[in-house]
Amino acid sequence: MARADTLARARKLDRPELAYLVRFSAADGTTDMELTWAELARDTAWVAGALRGHGLAAGQRALLNTSGFEGFWGRAVIGALSELRVTYGIAEAMGWDHRRTAVFHRELNPHAVIGLSADTLEGLAGAADVAEMFRPTALVLARPAAVPVLRGLGIPAALIAAVGPALALECPERQGGHVNAAEWRVGARDGELFVAAGEQRTSSLPETPLGIAGRVVTGSCACGSQDPRVQLAEAGPALSARS
Ligand SMILES: [Zn+2]
Repeated sequence: MARADTLARARKLDRPELAYLVRFSAADGTTDMELTWAELARDTAWVAGALRGHGLAAGQRALLNTSGFEGFWGRAVIGALSELRVTYGIAEAMGWDHRRTAVFHRELNPHAVIGLSADTLEGLAGAADVAEMFRPTALVLARPAAVPVLRGLGIPAALIAAVGPALALECPERQGGHVNAAEWRVGARDGELFVAAGEQRTSSLPETPLGIAGRVVTGSCACGSQDPRVQLAEAGPALSARS
């Protein structure tokens, strides 16, 4: 059968709604949650809005540090970068792949680095001046453990963090990572975060304690968003964008 015929037939097949099974660490152990293609599309649109808020625009370049198992948010970020027409390269967030981060950073001269990890910073520190490397980068969205390291070096990193199956993304105000309130309900009890599926989420998740130390700030943010902000103890105190 010709390839065109095969593709035409494949297009008629039912597409399963399930895109991913998201496996995450909760306070009571490993938990699974479904992620549908429709949810992924909404997550992608939300991430695109957040990145647009940071000034990402067509023609710019980005470096994304992510691992395959993080596809539940990594794919939303990739989709958002495509939507914004930002060219991107991907390096692992694991420390062993820090050389790829160094090469992409040198060759791409990216406007944004997204998902930078403390492990990668540690790997880079042996061969490069990390402060000098990331100071010219307009936007560094870093993981919780990397945020205080970068801020200590004078780089105003913003937070990107998985909060269970949800994604927290700090806006330019840097007052905690926004979580999409339409899709998730986040809160804190006794200083520990919990997450539950929100009103729009079709995949179910009851209120699940995450065993992550932090707090949640509600009310409107100076960026204009009403989405709650997650402040992780690990990421250090919130940073004022104007300081
Ligand atoms: Zn904000």
